[in-house]
Amino acid sequence: MKKILFVSSEAYPLIKTGGLADVSGSLPIALKALGHDVHILIPGYTSAMAAGDFQPLRLPGESKSPILLSALLPGSEVPVYGLVHEGYFGRGGNPYLGPDGKPWPDNAERFSLLCHFAVELASNRLGLDWKPDIVHCNDWQTGLIPALLNDEPQRPATVFTIHNLAYQGLFPRETFVRLRLPTRYWSPLALEFYDQLCFVKGGITFADRITTVSPTYAAEIQGKEFGCGLEGLLSQRKDRLCGILNGIDAESWNPATDPYLPIHFDGESIGKRLEIKATLQQHFGLPVNPDVPLLAWVGRLVQQKGTDLLLDIMPNLMNMPLQISMIGSGEARYEKSLLQWSKLFPERFAIRFGYDEGRAHLVEAGADIFLMPSRFEPCGLNQMYSQRYGTVPLVRHVGGLADTVVDATPESLADGTATGIVFDEATPDALLEAIERGIALHQDRAAWEQMQKTGMGKDFSWETSARQYEELYELALQDSLGG
Ligand code: ADP
Repeated sequence: MKKILFVSSEAYPLIKTGGLADVSGSLPIALKALGHDVHILIPGYTSAMAAGDFQPLRLPGESKSPILLSALLPGSEVPVYGLVHEGYFGRGGNPYLGPDGKPWPDNAERFSLLCHFAVELASNRLGLDWKPDIVHCNDWQTGLIPALLNDEPQRPATVFTIHNLAYQGLFPRETFVRLRLPTRYWSPLALEFYDQLCFVKGGITFADRITTVSPTYAAEIQGKEFGCGLEGLLSQRKDRLCGILNGIDAESWNPATDPYLPIHFDGESIGKRLEIKATLQQHFGLPVNPDVPLLAWVGRLVQQKGTDLLLDIMPNLMNMPLQISMIGSGEARYEKSLLQWSKLFPERFAIRFGYDEGRAHLVEAGADIFLMPSRFEPCGLNQMYSQRYGTVPLVRHVGGLADTVVDATPESLADGTATGIVFDEATPDALLEAIERGIALHQDRAAWEQMQKTGMGKDFSWETSARQYEELYELALQDSLGG
């Protein structure tokens, strides 16, 4: 049994902007189920604290209002601490962005506070009588923790997980001075990155072990294309870096019990999906037709996800025998163009803007093909949900998509391992070709059903990933003792 402090800037269901929240809300529960003593620390955003049964935790010697709230992560036995700071976390809205869509101007101060506080907690200086063996940090918001802990005697081992290297926590030099970080850390060997303060470097440089959320992404970030300028450092530390695939919440995402679905199904009753497809077509105002291939998209409408690739081939797609339903929000220019297409071809293309959990479940259960033409994808969750729900994912061969989807080739179709359509180049032509291939394959009912069943039978559970983290924690502990 290990004591693990899991630090994150978001955790489902308390606060979520993306996949990081899903991991932070699931991995600690899976680790707890393996017998570990896990505590989560998140910023005490007002909305997150209201979403759980948080109570003040009086720390010894504390006279003023409490700085720490505590609750159990809803639906679990895992304790969560919320760090209260009215000025930094008491505001509404997005955790990282202001109403103007730009990062909050005091983000460095906000997450530096989280990091310093985590160090106090991890060093058992708050009077909680609990000292972790491992501190598991996630993304740039927690990047200073391994750096600061490095100075502590008898420190816990540190693990730093990169969920998306595109976000690095970069700030001007003045911020470094203002944060009063140890001056020797202003060095390319520590937190400096081309004359800027770089939070993520704290994690990459100082953590005992570094992970990313898929093996392919772990390899990709050591190269120029995906390394965001940190590829040199990452390849220097490659013996400490590995990829562990995210799992999925197999309870919330179970087609046999999913409360968002009008009827339930499993691998033995795939035929029932047609009824859900009809519901989905109605929801999106598309003609109800069981035969026409229904392509779907759930996700952010940003360049990372290949939204521009899809837009480029819309003129072709709108002349093909298919329907497309999309849910998402993102960059205004993409939203505007997609809305125009939906007005031009309401029989073929429908889009709903915004975040809609229920509809996302319906899409996964009723669509034929799930589109994920990402330019980069550290892990990705939707392609795993799709497979579990019998929707065939169509993905680019990148990051976690490459690790979780098996392309339909003559060989993989023959040996029954195919689960999706995979293409290589991030070009509109390659995407179009893949969609044509998918639609042709959809006509072959036997092959299609075999792909659906293979996908539905795959194990994407958190238990498998949690066991890999367990082994990694052991290695991190050995590293921390070995210096
Ligand atoms: P990322 O974290 O890069 O946005 P992931 O695929 O890893 O992408 O995770 C996205 C998560 O957010 C998934 O759980 C997905 O279903 C969900 N999601 C994204 N956009 C929407 C939306 N508009 N409505 C409902 N769920 C969404």
